[in-house]
Amino acid sequence: MGARLDITSPLFKEIYRLDSDGIPVFKSYIAGEWVEGEAYQDIRSPIDLSVIARVSIPSQRDVERALDIMYRYGRWDIRNMPGYKRLSILNKAADLLESSGDDVVNALIINAGKPIQAAKGEVKASIDRLREAKLDLKKVHGDYIPGDWSDETTETEAIVRREPVGIVLAITPFNYPLFDTVNKLSYSTLVGNAFMIKPSLLDPIPVILFIRLLELAGFPKRALTLITLSGRDMEKILPDPRIGAISLTGSTETGIKVLRSAGIKQFIMELGGGDPAIVLGDADLEWSAQRIARGIYSYSGQRCDAIKLILAEEPIYDKLKSLLVEELKKVKVGDPRDPSVSMGPLIEEKAVDEMMKAIEDAASKGGKILFGGRRLGQTYVEPTLIEVEKERIYDLVLFKKEVFAPVALITSFRTVEEAVEISNKRSYGLDAAIFGKDINKIRYLIRHLEVGAIYINDYPRHGIGYYPFGGRKDSGIGREGIGYAIEYTTAYKTIVYNYKGKGVWEYL
Ligand code: NAP
Repeated sequence: MGARLDITSPLFKEIYRLDSDGIPVFKSYIAGEWVEGEAYQDIRSPIDLSVIARVSIPSQRDVERALDIMYRYGRWDIRNMPGYKRLSILNKAADLLESSGDDVVNALIINAGKPIQAAKGEVKASIDRLREAKLDLKKVHGDYIPGDWSDETTETEAIVRREPVGIVLAITPFNYPLFDTVNKLSYSTLVGNAFMIKPSLLDPIPVILFIRLLELAGFPKRALTLITLSGRDMEKILPDPRIGAISLTGSTETGIKVLRSAGIKQFIMELGGGDPAIVLGDADLEWSAQRIARGIYSYSGQRCDAIKLILAEEPIYDKLKSLLVEELKKVKVGDPRDPSVSMGPLIEEKAVDEMMKAIEDAASKGGKILFGGRRLGQTYVEPTLIEVEKERIYDLVLFKKEVFAPVALITSFRTVEEAVEISNKRSYGLDAAIFGKDINKIRYLIRHLEVGAIYINDYPRHGIGYYPFGGRKDSGIGREGIGYAIEYTTAYKTIVYNYKGKGVWEYL
C-alpha cells in the first residue's frame, strides 16, 4: 500500500486544501493568519518516496509582514501576558495534543518514517515537555547585588533582571520535528518571547499540525509564525536585527553557515554528534550489547546521540563483538506502519548513498563488516557494525564525519588513556556512554572526555531534556535542558540605584 497522509480531525480543516490530484496543500502561519504563498514544495514519504503533501512557500513579503507584526505588536502581546497565563496556554496545547494526537502520530510515521512506537513516543515526549515547562520557571529569576564591596559603589545597589530577547527564531531538523519545535517553543515563550519556527522541509507536516493546535490553545496570534522556507532561503532572514536569538538544531555545517550569516545575536546551537560507547572489562556484557545496539539502530541511527563508535577493553573485545552482532540480527527492518518493525527507512535516498559510500571507504581502509552493510531498498538499509584496527581508525570517513545512519565502528583499547585519546580525537563532543563497574576508571573517563554529557551504563538519550544536554567542540553552543536554555532566550538588564548622600546607609 502506497504511503498516504490522511488527516481525520476537523481541527485541521483551515490549514490545508486538497490539490486537483487529492494531495493536501498546507499553508504557512504568518503572525496570526494561515496564508498560501505563490510557490509550492512537494513533501515525500521516506516509506516509498511518494508525494504525500505540498507546502506553500511564503513570499519574502509574507516574511517581512510576519517580522513587522511580531516586532511591533507580538513580542509585547506575549510579554504583557502574565506568566501563569503563558504557562496555561502551553498546558492547553499539551491537552490538545493528547486528545487530537492521532493525526500527529500518523504524520510522524508517514512523513518522518518513524516506527509506530517511536512516533507515539515523540508525541508523548512533546506532551510531557509542554507540561514540564513549569520546571523551567525555577530558573527564571534575577539577582540582587549590594554595592558596599567596592569603594566606588558604596551607597548604591543593583538588581539584575532577566527579560525576553523579543523574537526567537527556531530552526529545527528532520529527526525530531515535533519534539524539537515543542522544546524550543517551551523555553522561548514561557519567558515571554514571540516565536518564529522554520521546520525542516523534509518532514514539516507534524510541525504544521502542532502550530494549529497551539493557535487553538490561545497562543497570542501576533506572537507566532511558521514559515515553510528552505534553509537556503533563510540566509537572508537570519541577520534581521528584529530577531533577538536563534535556536538551531541541525548539522555542524549548517551551524557554521548560520553563525556566519546571522551577525550579533544570542544563539543556541545543537549540532552534529554521534557518540562513543566505552565498554570496560568488568561491564555486564549482555546488557551493554543490548543497549549499545539500540543506540545504533534506534530511529535508523538518525539521532544526534546515536552511538557511532564502540571502544571495548581488550579482554572482553571478542565477546562484546559477538553479542553485538547477535543483537543487530534481531532488528527487523521494514515499513514503519508494520507494528513488528523495529527500524524504518532513512529520510531520503541521499542518506542511504552517503552511508554506502562511508562503508566502502571503511572497507577500502581495512575495515571489516561484522554485520549488515547492505542497501535493502531505495531508503532502507541494514544496521551495520564495522571492525577496524585502532591505528587506522582516524582515516575513516565514519570516524571523521557524522554519518546520519545506523552504522558504527568498533575497536579495542588497552588503557583508559587510550580510550580517551581515541574519543577526543573526534571533532564532535556531544555525549559519551561508559559501561562498567570500576569506579576509578569511570571517574578518570568522566574527567577527561570532552563531551557535554556522559551516560553511565546506558546509551545516550536526551529524552525530554530533564537533564541538560548540548555539545562541546563541533557539537555546538549552549544547553537545551529544562531550565538551562532560558539563559540564551533572555537578556540580563542591570538596574543601579544610587542613594549617595541620601542617608539610606550610614557607613563608618
Ligand atoms: P540540517 O540539514 O543541518 O538542517 C537543519 C535545519 O536547518 C533544517 O530546517 C534546514 O532546512 C535548516 N538549514 C539548512 N541550511 C540552512 C541555512 N543556511 N540557514 C538556515 N537554516 C538552514 O540537519 P538535519 O539533517 O535536518 O538534521 C540532522 C542534524 O541535526 C545532525 O547533524 C544531528 O546530529 C543534528 N541534531 C543535533 C541535535 C543535538 O541535540 N545536538 C539534536 C538533533 C539533531 P531545510 O533542510 O528545510 O533546507
